[in-house]
Amino acid sequence: MKVGVLALQGAFIEHQKILEGLGAEVVQVRLPSDLDDLQGLIIPGGESTTIGKLAVDFDMMEPLKAFCRSHAVWGTCAGSIFLSKDAARQQPLLELMDIKVERNAFGRQVDSFEIDLPIPCLKKVSPSDAPFHAIFIRAPLIEEVGKGVEILASLQDGRIVAAQENRWLATSFHPELTADDRFHRYFLEMIP
Ligand code: GLN
Repeated sequence: MKVGVLALQGAFIEHQKILEGLGAEVVQVRLPSDLDDLQGLIIPGGESTTIGKLAVDFDMMEPLKAFCRSHAVWGTCAGSIFLSKDAARQQPLLELMDIKVERNAFGRQVDSFEIDLPIPCLKKVSPSDAPFHAIFIRAPLIEEVGKGVEILASLQDGRIVAAQENRWLATSFHPELTADDRFHRYFLEMIP
């Protein structure tokens, strides 16, 4: 399996390592031609405004949109913002996934936190019922989801932090910063 990780900015190496550990071939995507022959794409966490600006500068917006429309794509944290239809601010977005996000919803860097979350869909890739250790770093919240979007995980107070729309996945937190590869396996399973 050949999977890309958008490598304009942010935590792409961490995703690459986990994917390679699962036997996938990984391509760091910076130019439109890097998307050739890929079967899926991860958009990492980082700074969504920077990722967006670089995507514009590198003429990546249209090629990324075209690729994402027909492939499995997973945005983590800033990546989920970039994938969303609406971030309530002026910044370049792919405007694909039918979610509205609130950037930095938990506050500043010091308000970053870690929490164990039950994520039932991970049952598909592992018999373990263990909660997922979710790391939130200046994370966005998924404020609203459209009709075709399934909620995969919420905080105890009901605020949404992971969602899926067909073959698009968005997580507010960073599974690539843990040793738990269930979310990466779940993503690879989405690739036909
Ligand atoms: N705060 C960042 C943003 O709004 C996201 C942080 C992250 O990806 N860890 O883009």
